[in-house]
Amino acid sequence: MQTLVTDQPEEAARHLNRGETVAFPTETVYGLGADALDPDAVAGIFRAKGRPSDNPLIVHVSSPDQISEVAQEIGDDARRLIERYFPGPLTLVLNKRDTLPDIVSAGLPTVGVRCPAHPQAAEFLRHCNHPVAAPSANVSGRPSPTDWQTVEHDLDGRIACLLRGEPSTIGLESTIVDCTTEPPLLLRSGAISLEALRELVPDIEVATSCRKGETPKSPGQKYRHYSPEAEIILVETSLKNLPTQPPAAWIGLSTPPAGATKSLQCRDLNEYARVLFGFFRTCDAEGIREIYCELPREEGIGRAIRERLVKAAG
Ligand code: AMP
Ligand code: MG
Repeated sequence: MQTLVTDQPEEAARHLNRGETVAFPTETVYGLGADALDPDAVAGIFRAKGRPSDNPLIVHVSSPDQISEVAQEIGDDARRLIERYFPGPLTLVLNKRDTLPDIVSAGLPTVGVRCPAHPQAAEFLRHCNHPVAAPSANVSGRPSPTDWQTVEHDLDGRIACLLRGEPSTIGLESTIVDCTTEPPLLLRSGAISLEALRELVPDIEVATSCRKGETPKSPGQKYRHYSPEAEIILVETSLKNLPTQPPAAWIGLSTPPAGATKSLQCRDLNEYARVLFGFFRTCDAEGIREIYCELPREEGIGRAIRERLVKAAG
């Protein structure tokens, strides 16, 4: 398959409307989309990524009005979150409509729904005939792509079209909240923090999938994820020297330790989130064997960074 690279959302949408797979930029990470109401098209996503069929996809809508095409009744908590954070980096798990193909939800009675704020993504979705099912646009198991070049590296020749845009500004996947449970559950941390969610939904709880060593609640969380080839070593405090032989790398907020072949000191948590997956990819390309990652404090987007780092460390 020849992969067409384009800057035109409308052209990308024409491919999607023909039942093909299309990668597109969003503010979180790049997604790989197909028509959510066309099971054959959605099967193309699983094929291209090598994704296990029991891992559900998030459905992307162009506006909150479109949610009713894929989900049933919306409760009060979900409604408050939608009013405040759609469009934005938040996915809500709702009860699905019977008309949504089972392949999208991996057989679950629920569906994850998100409305991206990214201008190109929004324009692309507006030109699509139906909501768009889209996981991250990487080969399954690799870190999510935050720029178009990484999508091309992973999926060139395996997808019909790549909508080229700027690098993702957030760099980590969306926050996921399950609104079908009482109380609602945070299934995956992201840029919209637990603190911010609690302002609207005070009784929200953190799912066991987000806690270390417990059984995942969100299906995808059981898979190895976000992982570079290099070994990830977590460090809680700043290091003076790397306790290893090169080639080893370091990333964090403190002053980099001596002895790192490669290091990246981030100015703040937002930058840490934005550059993390790209750093993993570069380290792999440069043959780095170990990556020391400084765990940030568990507040704001720091919780999401920690969650990804703990998973990447396995
Ligand atoms: P990705 O966009 O590649 O991060 O994949 C989407 C993730 O969303 C999956 O790994 C699931 O963990 C989660 N997800 C999607 N739909 C649901 C759902 N209906 N219930 C719980 N989690 C979901
Ligand atoms: Mg993914």
